[in-house]
Amino acid sequence: MKERKHTTATDHDTASEARRSFDDALNTAWRRPGELGPDDVRVLLACSVADEECRKRLFAAADEVRRRYVGDEVHLRGIIEFSNHCVRNCHYCGLRAQNRSLPRYRMTEDQIVAVAEAATHLGYIGTIVLQSGEDPAYDGPTLAGVIRKIKKRTGLAVTVSVGDRPREDYALWREAGADRYLLKHETADAELFRRLRPGTTLDGRLRCLRDLRDLGYQVGSGNMVGLPGQTLSTLVDDLLLLRDLDVEMAGIGPFIPHPETPLASAPAGSVDLTLCVLAVARLVLPWAHLPATTALATADHDGRRRALLSGANVVMPNVGPTEYRHLYQIYPGKAAIDEDAMTYVKHVVEMIDSLGRTVGKGAGHSRKPAFTPRS
Ligand code: SAH
Ligand code: SF4
Repeated sequence: MKERKHTTATDHDTASEARRSFDDALNTAWRRPGELGPDDVRVLLACSVADEECRKRLFAAADEVRRRYVGDEVHLRGIIEFSNHCVRNCHYCGLRAQNRSLPRYRMTEDQIVAVAEAATHLGYIGTIVLQSGEDPAYDGPTLAGVIRKIKKRTGLAVTVSVGDRPREDYALWREAGADRYLLKHETADAELFRRLRPGTTLDGRLRCLRDLRDLGYQVGSGNMVGLPGQTLSTLVDDLLLLRDLDVEMAGIGPFIPHPETPLASAPAGSVDLTLCVLAVARLVLPWAHLPATTALATADHDGRRRALLSGANVVMPNVGPTEYRHLYQIYPGKAAIDEDAMTYVKHVVEMIDSLGRTVGKGAGHSRKPAFTPRS
């Protein structure tokens, strides 16, 4: 009995100590966001995961830092998923080459450009994101041609997201006018990365990110939350890696198991945990563009709104043809899969309005003070 009392007192001390460290870290975040150290990041994440009161305070702080640094605008990036062919076999993704049950498609160059042009008529869209599996059919010069035409005919910002490529390809696309590149580091745990992305390494991915930075892209990275084998320490490392890369954008979404992959029976990543990681990311990277990811909207029908209230300031509606949507199955059950581009954008805009926020005007380039986007 005595011993039990003693344990309770110790637990109480530990809890108050943790709460004090949480308060200190949150204070630093208020006063000097972006200067959070590894211990701050760890305590913010650990306490908010364990305690609902801390979680609420973390979300409120992330919302306020978001407002102070990147404002109330929510930028819409229209995504075109132009090919679901992929040579890779990532264990988590339904587009993996070994998923033979998935019918494959490729949009033609003219189709891609036409969809981008149509997106300008939707209003609201300031950026086109060109995404695909790792598909060598679109070689460097081919994709450069598509980018050049989109830039010339629409004037929209262009983000490319087609995975690991040689530096020469990245250079060609940059010369063609690409503004940004999205390449998630996926997990900062090199061993887990090697296991989940056979034939690739975290070092290789980081090499690509360095090349993109050298070439003057606005760089986006990010990670999945809830990958099997990932721990809270891995997530702390993810956040510190994003900070060290000084990314202009970070996509953070829950892992969602796909039935035709080796991770079919793994549990899905937690929505609450993902929101905590997103909120800490806002404190670590106050200037960054942080999307309310489609994966979050898929895992929770209210996920997008919750993300916008916890630090996010970007939404990426799908503006591609509806007939391809269910084939771009990186994970199952994708949110708004049957909505045409116009309806999708309309719903997103209504949701942004309902939060008292505004849709971002223009390209929505990085607001980081040191960053000067090319005109
Ligand atoms: N082939 C490119 C881009 C397409 S995949 C690449 O790999 O970079 C786009 C993103 O989808 C990946 O970065 C990954 O974070 C996410 N993704 C893949 N499978 C997923 C899953 N099962 N659950 C959640 N996100 C997933
Ligand atoms: Fe291919 Fe990207 Fe999916 Fe990996 S995550 S299988 S590279 S589409």
